[in-house]
Amino acid sequence: MPIPIVQTGHPVLRKPAQQLTKAEIVHPKTRDLIEAMRETMYAAPGVGLAAPQIGLDLHIAVLEDREDYLKDVPQEVLDERSRRPVPFQVVINPVLKPLVSDEIAFFEGCLSVAGFTALVSRYNAVEVTCLNEQAEEVVIRAEGWHARILQHEIDHLNGMLYIDRMETRSFTSLDNMKNYWNGKSVDEVRAALNLA
Ligand code: ZN
Repeated sequence: MPIPIVQTGHPVLRKPAQQLTKAEIVHPKTRDLIEAMRETMYAAPGVGLAAPQIGLDLHIAVLEDREDYLKDVPQEVLDERSRRPVPFQVVINPVLKPLVSDEIAFFEGCLSVAGFTALVSRYNAVEVTCLNEQAEEVVIRAEGWHARILQHEIDHLNGMLYIDRMETRSFTSLDNMKNYWNGKSVDEVRAALNLA
């Protein structure tokens, strides 16, 4: 059963999450939680979900960018965003390291700020050292949209939301995104909004 997703304003989204021990990670309770998070992410639907979004201050996030999410996105948008399918990943106690110094802006949304989107700058390549669902240490090197999803989810574990990083003048409802901004490049949007 999908778990209700908490919305911005809930204190759990602003609290740094607790790290898990290896014993806690392999406990059946955590296995069940990860399964529930996967179901909740699919049901939303979303490409990532962090434990605080279901009300738990735990350092766990799941992500997956499924092939069937990409099939309706125009190829030029996929190319512009370096968006490719990403298999299901569980990220526990992650430490993020940027692999590049420059950042790239795209519209980004969050299941906990439902109905809105804004331009957010993120590193285009990152390395994440974390534990997986078997409590094994893994290093994930990611670029493009995958790198963006990781940065977004790891922010959640540190009590941050994309609205803390967004270009505030670009903040828009999804309806108005559709009505006014879809199909425009980031440069065109910036020019129309008087953003540098
Ligand atoms: Zn989010």
